[in-house]
Amino acid sequence: MIEYDVHLHSDYSTDSEEKMENTVEKAVSLGLKGLCFTDHMDLYFPQECAKKSGGDFTFDPDAYFDELEYLKSKYRNRIEILFGIETGLRNESELKDKCIDEYRRMIGDYPFDFVIGSTHCLENIDPYWEEYWYGRTAEEGLDRYFDAIDQNCNDYDFFDSLGHLDYLVRYVSKDAAIRSFKERFKDLPEESSGFDWEEQRVYGRRLYRPSDFKEITEQILKRIIDRGTALEINTAGLKYGLGFAHPHEEILKLYKELGGELLTVGSDAHMAEHLAYDFRDIPGYLKNLGFKYYFVYKRRKPEGYLL
Ligand SMILES: [Zn+2]
Ligand SMILES: [Zn+2]
Repeated sequence: MIEYDVHLHSDYSTDSEEKMENTVEKAVSLGLKGLCFTDHMDLYFPQECAKKSGGDFTFDPDAYFDELEYLKSKYRNRIEILFGIETGLRNESELKDKCIDEYRRMIGDYPFDFVIGSTHCLENIDPYWEEYWYGRTAEEGLDRYFDAIDQNCNDYDFFDSLGHLDYLVRYVSKDAAIRSFKERFKDLPEESSGFDWEEQRVYGRRLYRPSDFKEITEQILKRIIDRGTALEINTAGLKYGLGFAHPHEEILKLYKELGGELLTVGSDAHMAEHLAYDFRDIPGYLKNLGFKYYFVYKRRKPEGYLL
């Protein structure tokens, strides 16, 4: 059993309304040993996207730590509560240096246990929004995204685990998926063949081939392995109905082949009910791929737990 969920959001994140204590209570009821809140800190979040999202994906670290300290003390005999953060890495040249400095300072100023590094925005847009995909095939959009992650893994050295490596497959727009399909198969499928273009995430479910991105993902994996940075298994892909946790099994196999061992496991829950989502099947799945341990960071040091 995976006994710690180390990627969680609360109402300190723009896209969550969940009270921390509800998630802690849920974790106790599930019998978890511990949990780590990793609320969103996306410095310089693009303003247009912030307007549409209803917030800029930052929080007040003082208030965050006060609440976590309170809960840690209140629940000290029942569950271990860890202090984390999900930092949004930016590769745009005008933002990179500022982001590196400000994240470093913030991480130095507070006693974090765990820092996730995720790429949420590039080209001054959050590719969750359709505009990012205008005129592009899914593969073009994903290539640019993996390139940004690669640059970020080269330039940012302060994070402990690389968050949801291929999660963008969830947000490929319908038009980009259709362009990809036409390029690959020429004729669009009949409605009767089970394709529903109105359905979201068609690309992720039906068209995503990790082998199309092997070169760039291999480079990313080599960078994090060389640096001793972990790779995150993010079960939100299962929650979104993609049929796989991020990153895809083929990428995980590559990580193992390259000598990668450090894995962290998180649900990326934004609601208490999604805590430890589909964790039950993860140990068997990872053991089959040859992994023996998953890791939990405490005071920024990885501790191994048997799968
Ligand atoms: Zn994220
Ligand atoms: Zn997250």
